[in-house]
Amino acid sequence: MRELYQQLIIDHGRSPRHFGCLENATHRKEGFNPLCGDKITVYFNVEDDRIVQASFEGSGCAISMASASLMMETLIGKTLEQAQQIFDAFHALVTRGEQSSDLDMDKLIVLAGVNEFPARVKCATLAWQAFHAACNHSKELVSTES
Ligand code: ZN
Repeated sequence: MRELYQQLIIDHGRSPRHFGCLENATHRKEGFNPLCGDKITVYFNVEDDRIVQASFEGSGCAISMASASLMMETLIGKTLEQAQQIFDAFHALVTRGEQSSDLDMDKLIVLAGVNEFPARVKCATLAWQAFHAACNHSKELVSTES
């Protein structure tokens, strides 16, 4: 099982889905993880409180790229409220290994093992923090080291 998860992370890390700039995005945010050197910009188009389009670009380690890729796959089509719940649940998953069964988290479970490696948690949460800041229209640059 663990091997399968690792393969999925490597696959998404090498060929991330929804990669690229989104023109006319209603929300965008850049995030930076100086400890690892991961840099990610996330783009979202939100209509009637629902995420209708999303993409990201940047560079970084396999975990940061895979997490951003899986985040896009999970969040597209969700309402902002659902996305916020998944954001909270994802945080619990990668920091404490807690799995939530009542949310659409299937794709994200592959990242559960990250909680055993505190340094990699920042790689896994970078895109999510950028998403969260974008939704709150924060003007601050997102950094894992604040
Ligand atoms: Zn990283």
